[in-house]
Amino acid sequence: MSGVAAEFGELYGHAPDGVWAAPGRVNLIGEYTDFNEGFVLPLALPHTAVAAVSRRDDGILRLHSRDVDGPVVELGADALKPGGVDGWAAYPAGVVWALREAGHAVGGADVHLASTVPTGAGLSSSAALEVVTALALNDLYGLGLTRPRLALLAQRAENAFVGVPCGVMDQMASACAEDGHALFLDTRDLSYRQVPFDLAAVGLRLLVVDTRVKHALGDGAYAERRAGCEAGARALGVRALREVDAAQLSDALGRLSDETVRRYVRHVVSDNDRVARTIALLDAGDVRAVGAVLVEGHASLRDDLRVSCPELDLAVAAAVGAGALGARMTGGGFGGSAVVLVDADAADAVAGAVRAAFREAGHAEPGVFTAVPSGGARRLG
Ligand code: ADP
Ligand code: MG
Repeated sequence: MSGVAAEFGELYGHAPDGVWAAPGRVNLIGEYTDFNEGFVLPLALPHTAVAAVSRRDDGILRLHSRDVDGPVVELGADALKPGGVDGWAAYPAGVVWALREAGHAVGGADVHLASTVPTGAGLSSSAALEVVTALALNDLYGLGLTRPRLALLAQRAENAFVGVPCGVMDQMASACAEDGHALFLDTRDLSYRQVPFDLAAVGLRLLVVDTRVKHALGDGAYAERRAGCEAGARALGVRALREVDAAQLSDALGRLSDETVRRYVRHVVSDNDRVARTIALLDAGDVRAVGAVLVEGHASLRDDLRVSCPELDLAVAAAVGAGALGARMTGGGFGGSAVVLVDADAADAVAGAVRAAFREAGHAEPGVFTAVPSGGARRLG
């Protein structure tokens, strides 16, 4: 990715002050729990957004991406306002806006980006873009902000400036993950623990199947699930569904009259419990048993939350049918990717079975790769 620095030089006529990287992520378990103050267990991918950046003190923000056709976008840092920037530039511009709005003295910057995180595949290319921008500005302007604080500001950029009501999992994973670990995150207070996740050591692999179906979180379905969960919490008299644990679930469901809300509550409470069970299995070294938890999680997302799609259901069914230990959709759903836990020596056969099932169903060829748990955002040079 040193090419990014050279491209920056050609674009702006001077060298960058530095180069930073921030990864995309996959979530192992705990879906649609983060806006319910619940638990998630993502891991960072080797795929990263890389940004070459230089500081400017004239308040001008110049943004460019190798991956998008088009000229350099030039904006005034003090004129940024939510909804005021169209397209991809809203993500990095939103970070500048969020930092300034929080009282941090960020002037302008020249930014050139390039990313290997597939976009719209549920692997959080957007969070990678935000977090790499936030970390670069934190370093260049000497802000001294912690990783969780940077993640929160990146989320605020996406929520309030871009206008996507995402939770904080993606930004936390990109900012805080560690090589060889999954990140067990409590989204209520952003406390977290690095959970060793060395699948190769136990002869296993985690595959990511990108269905190539582009999800669109802005289309209202996500906001509708979120509103339904909030309605459930209100009806149960709790601040967030995180307050309801698995032992209280049947009692809670009995107190809810709305069928849709009941389904959403059942998903969130049971998925929080699945995160806890997965952590217990990983801590006990029983990684193979996580497969069954993934299968349960997929059924809950498909049947209760109803955020899956035929391609995701097919990827999961074909993988499990071909001998995978477990699989589930990951991320917001309606397309995007699935994760598959598989014996390393069965990985090729399982990937082949998923491809064959897609061919037979007339779907586009899915992308399949191994998710190697990788490090979070960092300065490269
Ligand atoms: P996801 O985060 O799951 O990949 P999103 O819809 O949240 O999907 O974010 C994708 C958007 O992020 C793209 O449409 C684009 O605006 C922006 N984006 C991601 N990667 C890049 C990139 N390399 N260059 C420019 N914009 C990017
Ligand atoms: Mg995103």
